[in-house]
This record gives sequence, C-alpha cells and structure tokens, in this order.
Amino acid sequence: MSDGTFVDSQMNMQKNVSLKNKTWFGVGGNAEYYIEPNDAQELKQALQYAYQNQLAVTMLGAGSNVLIRDGGIDGLVIHLPKSFTNIEIHEDILICGAAASLMEMAKVAAKACISGFEFMVGIPGTLGGGFRTNAGAYGADLGKITVELVTIDHNGIIKKYYPKQENIFGYRSCALPSDEICLEAKLQGQKEATNQQILNQMQLYKEKRQSSQPQGVRTAGSTFKNSPDFSAWKLLDEAGLRGYTLNGAKFSEKHPNFLINTGTASAEDLENLISFAQEKVLQKTGIKLECEIKILGKDSI
Ligand SMILES: Cc1cc2nc3c(=O)[nH]c(=O)nc-3n(C[C@H](O)[C@H](O)[C@H](O)COP(=O)(O)OP(=O)(O)OC[C@H]3O[C@@H](n4cnc5c(N)ncnc54)[C@H](O)[C@@H]3O)c2cc1C
Repeated sequence: MSDGTFVDSQMNMQKNVSLKNKTWFGVGGNAEYYIEPNDAQELKQALQYAYQNQLAVTMLGAGSNVLIRDGGIDGLVIHLPKSFTNIEIHEDILICGAAASLMEMAKVAAKACISGFEFMVGIPGTLGGGFRTNAGAYGADLGKITVELVTIDHNGIIKKYYPKQENIFGYRSCALPSDEICLEAKLQGQKEATNQQILNQMQLYKEKRQSSQPQGVRTAGSTFKNSPDFSAWKLLDEAGLRGYTLNGAKFSEKHPNFLINTGTASAEDLENLISFAQEKVLQKTGIKLECEIKILGKDSI
C-alpha cells in the first residue's frame, strides 16, 4: 500500500511511495523511502540520511529503461526533479543537468545549429538514466560526445571525469562504480550544419523508429543488448518469440526485442518472459542474451 507518509518534512522525504506510475512499464511496488531533492545540497543531505540509516540508494530517472519488481525497492529511491533539467549552450557544447530530457537536449542543440545530438530524438529518458547505460542509437551514443561528467557518490563526494581521456563508456555500458550518481555533463557537438539539416536528420530518425518500433505502448525500449555478432531481435525472431505472449507480457509483433506490458502484466510476468526468452535463445543458439533493461527491487512475498 502506498501511503506517502513524510519521514522528514525538511527534506521532503516520504515513505512507501508507489513507483509503478513513475515507470514506462507501469508495474512494480513501492519505494521504502522516496525523495525528489531540490538541489545538490538536498541531494547530499538525503545521501547522508541514507548512510546514517544504512539504506541502499537507487536512482530513478524517467523510468524508461527499468523494470521495478512487484515487491518494490528497499532503501531510498532518489528522483532528480525539474531543478536538475538545466541545459546551457557554450559554443558547440551543451552543459546539462542530470534530469534533462534527451529529446529536449536534441531540440535545443538543433535550434543552436549544433549537430551530433540528433540520435537522442526518440529516446524518452534523461541524461542521468542514459549515462548509466550509455544510451545511444544509429551508431552514436552519449559516451562519444561527453567531454566532462560530474558525479556524486553515495558518500557525497563530487568527482569529475573526462570520458575522452578515460575509458568509461562502452556499448550500452558505463564502467563507473554503481554508486556514482550523474549530476551534470558537458556534451560536445559540431557547428557544421544548418538548423534545417539537423532537423531533417532528426525527422529521418523519427520516421525510422515509427516504421520499425511499436508506438504508444508500455515498454522500456530494447530488452536485450545487441553484439557485433548478432542482433537480439533476430535471435528472438528465429526462436519464435515475435508476438509471443505470457500473461499480459508480450514481445512486440513489430520489433521482437521490445517487451510490452499489454495492460495486465505484473513485473513478475514481464521478468518471467525475459527469462523464458533467454532460455529459448540459449537452447537454440548457445548465446545468453544480456538484458539491457535494468531490473530493480525485490519480488513480492
Ligand atoms: C520507446 C523507447 C525507446 C527507447 N529507445 C532507446 C534507444 O534508442 N537507445 C537507448 O539507449 N535506449 C533507449 N530506450 C531506453 C531508455 O529510454 C534510455 O536508456 C534512457 O536513457 C533511460 O533514461 P531514464 O531517465 O528513463 O532512466 P531510468 O530508466 O529511470 O534508469 C535507468 C538506469 O539509470 C539509473 N539512473 C537514473 N538516473 C541516474 C542518475 N542521475 N545517475 C546515475 N544513475 C541513474 C537508474 O538507477 C537505472 O539503473 C528506449 C526506451 C523506450 C521506452
């Protein structure tokens, strides 16, 4: 049951907050503790509270790449609100807060005639969430254009990373410790195209998505990672999983790597279908598909 009781009114921290409507899948239980800190200082205080009370810390962005289990998340869930959505332009660089929407960043860059951000159109997440999986599309990703990354760890220590010099990002992966929270990043594009050229490229990507991916559904994007040797959707297709349904969970007819909550699935149903697909593909090909979606929390008892 979600009661949203305030734990600490000074910090706006609440207890037992339902997370299901904060994710794209629309499933999952409650956060034991939940906070939307207004600034870095409040975030630090919340981390300190978690440390003192031995609470695990979990970040939640736009919830477009997570499957939260039905038993919810123990410890403290932190969601960075609007006050972290700043986007500033300095020549060919965008300085963005962790809660900035990737789609908004693409729009702002286009308006300023900065190319290199077009791939973000159609990725419905935030910079902070995208940083964890090195979100990308069409051969581009966040890691390739990030020149500086500011993080805060669970002890409240702020650090700066320079991804161009340090080997931090790989394909849908980030090598930083899991307790590094993204606060802000500087991302560099190029000032070589006109606004119209950039908008045309964005329109092209939009149309590509519309023709190949299901629209207006409860999903978290690609379920499994691709590799240089295979496309996950192909393996799923060949294993007979296109359109496959288990309770209310379903692999899209249009794009078999998109897992959909048709409306009645629980987190357990969705996770069961993920495991079933992994097993099926493993048996057929010997390949263990790796989940791109982050599965968080605990099963219901
Ligand atoms: C229709 C659709 C299409 C998609 N297309 C793509 C695509 O083309 N390419 C792609 O890469 N992804 C795609 N995705 C997945 C998703 O949108 C991206 O991964 C996105 O960047 C996740 O951001 P988020 O804010 O939703 O993160 P969330 O889903 O909220 O969180 C994702 C992970 O990041 C962590 N996290 C969140 N905020 C922070 C922070 N500030 N610091 C540290 N960790 C944090 C969370 O704990 C979690 O582990 C798609 C999803 C959907 C629904």
